[in-house]
Amino acid sequence: MATGVSDEHGGPCGDGSNEVDCNEAVRQLYRYLDGELNDVRRVQISVHLDECGWCGEAAEFEAELRMVVANRCKDRVPEALKDRVAAALRAEATRQDAALDGSAPGGSSTGGSDALG
Ligand SMILES: [Zn+2]
Repeated sequence: MATGVSDEHGGPCGDGSNEVDCNEAVRQLYRYLDGELNDVRRVQISVHLDECGWCGEAAEFEAELRMVVANRCKDRVPEALKDRVAAALRAEATRQDAALDGSAPGGSSTGGSDALG
């Protein structure tokens, strides 16, 4: 059961000169966009994206998608979140008020030795 993979068929870019094929390029795409790859790997992926139209388009789409998502997250602060933050701040203020008004732990005791004799 020897399955020697010497030559592969299929794939949009049937060029065996590259070490990176489409599968690998797509798998590494996210890391590539995140800048998590080392220089060698990055160049390999970059070359493939350049040569292979299919992977190049996928990478472009992914990059654009990320930008859209990032912009949306920056623009919009959900009203519900604002409400929760405001409520939390109010609750915190109330709690501090109660603590000050209530019985303070340990009054001012300056040298009160009345036991131990
Ligand atoms: Zn490709």
